[in-house]
Amino acid sequence: MQIDHIGIAVKSLSEAVKVYREMIGLEVSGYDQVDDQGVRVAMLPAGDSRIELLEPITAESPIEKFLAKRGEGIHHIAVRVDNIEQALERFKAAGARLIDSTPRPGAHNTRIAFVHPASTHGVLLELVEHCE
Ligand code: ZN
Repeated sequence: MQIDHIGIAVKSLSEAVKVYREMIGLEVSGYDQVDDQGVRVAMLPAGDSRIELLEPITAESPIEKFLAKRGEGIHHIAVRVDNIEQALERFKAAGARLIDSTPRPGAHNTRIAFVHPASTHGVLLELVEHCE
């Protein structure tokens, strides 16, 4: 298992990308929009992992709610899995509280599912399966 990416909630994608490029030295590998979650996304590779910057584009976006409640910052940690259905079964069997009991579409041709922070010591966990 490896960290696929770390999701960071930001108010402005363009301002955040500027900071991550100029100060931290990362480059954007791609932008995407996930209508399902009401977000625009920028991916910045960092070694084998990536930073995912998330900007809300709708008032109903979970990222908008997160920003209103907690401000900018780390929103979730994503781990890469080969088979997301199998991974979800494993979490269910372990009694984990799932936000998504079935996978939904993620950014950049992925399928994702979230596990509630109550089951992972306070961290919102995203499972990611990359579709070829
Ligand atoms: Zn993510």
